[in-house]
Amino acid sequence: MNQKLHLPSVDRLLIQLADAIADHGRQVVTACTRAELAAAREGARGGLPLPDETALLAAIRRRAGDACRPNLRPVLNLTGTVLHTNLGRAQLPEEAVAAMVEAARSPCALEYDLDSGGRGDRDDLVSPLLSEIIGCEAATVVNNNAAAVLLALNALAQGKEAVVSRGELVEIGGAFRIPDVMRRAQVKLVEIGTTNRTHAKDYEEAIGPKTALLMKVHTSNYAVTGFTKAVEEAEVARIAHAHGLPFLVDLGSGTLADFAAHGLPAEPTPQEALAAGADIVTFSGDKLLGGPQAGLIAGRRDLIAKIKKNPLKRALRVGKTTLAALEATLRLYRDPDRLAERLPTLRLLTRPVADIEAAGRRLAPALQEVLGESATVTLEACASQIGSGALPVERLPSAALVVRPQAKRPGKALLALETALRGLPVPVIGYIRDDALWLDLRCLEAKDEALLAVQFSGLAP
Ligand SMILES: *Cc1c(COP(=O)(O)O)cnc(C)c1O
Repeated sequence: MNQKLHLPSVDRLLIQLADAIADHGRQVVTACTRAELAAAREGARGGLPLPDETALLAAIRRRAGDACRPNLRPVLNLTGTVLHTNLGRAQLPEEAVAAMVEAARSPCALEYDLDSGGRGDRDDLVSPLLSEIIGCEAATVVNNNAAAVLLALNALAQGKEAVVSRGELVEIGGAFRIPDVMRRAQVKLVEIGTTNRTHAKDYEEAIGPKTALLMKVHTSNYAVTGFTKAVEEAEVARIAHAHGLPFLVDLGSGTLADFAAHGLPAEPTPQEALAAGADIVTFSGDKLLGGPQAGLIAGRRDLIAKIKKNPLKRALRVGKTTLAALEATLRLYRDPDRLAERLPTLRLLTRPVADIEAAGRRLAPALQEVLGESATVTLEACASQIGSGALPVERLPSAALVVRPQAKRPGKALLALETALRGLPVPVIGYIRDDALWLDLRCLEAKDEALLAVQFSGLAP
């Protein structure tokens, strides 16, 4: 018997798919219909029964829905890493989101001087604010901090030498290594000192006729402890200036806020580096600063002017939505009293444990009920990380829902659970440790609690 005859035609199916066509468009729904019919035929050849028309229609609607779902989707970050690079780092403040939308929607004075009617400079949207907040003479913005370092090195030291301590030859991950960036910037790296100890005389002795600058790199994602010595920024600045050389500091994260005042571990700030004598500092927009992906270069006016004239600046510049978000984020720093409330990164980092535990107590019963006998759910203490290389050894006390499958060898059950969580409409990302699945609730703010609870019911076996 020819089973083909028992499948409805494409046209017959499409007539019943008006709703899906209204949602996703005829082209997509037609392609999905053909694909489902082909899959049904293929299945039949392999001995599977043919689906009935209702099942076919449901499968087509599902396929069309999947095809039209955005690739970049929101997730719930329960990894305990606040600035998770793979999950997009900083969550923007509402003020920045609104500014981005506005800039995206209408023409805006991106490079247009509204006073004179002449051409403006996009950096002027944020450089006065940066000057006010960190005390720099001038600033410029590029796509990310890696670009900031590349551009600053190329503009200030191309064909010459830059002196860096061996203790600071950082690899950030994702192929950002200081020695490689130096090579690409066409700067010769002069390594000084040893992995654990570098002295002032090492800087002095490395300086020669080809030296263009001295550089310090914040060892953001690791810590060298034990028998160690690094030279303070003020001391390196003094040596550089005694030889008429600029001193460049790559801060990596570089918070602009006073972390100690918020009860957080101290992290170097651009204002401190500049006050200590750095001529140029570079730092990320989407790490502790809590704004959009960007690289900020700030410091001496003459050096910033040189950096801005470099053709790489044009290749690495940021667009209007980034500048809109950055400006709005920087404006929040002018009101330190309300910063922890309005800047999500700081709000999440300073969230009281009692608050996180309370969320856990509200959510645990719902998860236990869905999982039934198959696993136990407890609320346990855990340690969140700041992430993105900032303060690598510091941990923030937090609380997690911990799921322990009842199976003797829980590996498979854990992977299945982790996969199911990732498959939810708003994927939930946790981590597996010590034969358990951990959902650190630090980054689950009140607005998402109900969403998580509702989604738990989707895990029912
Ligand atoms: C994170 C980091 C970078 C790279 O910054 P991106 O904004 O991710 O490009 C460079 N240097 C240091 C020290 C860093 O911590």
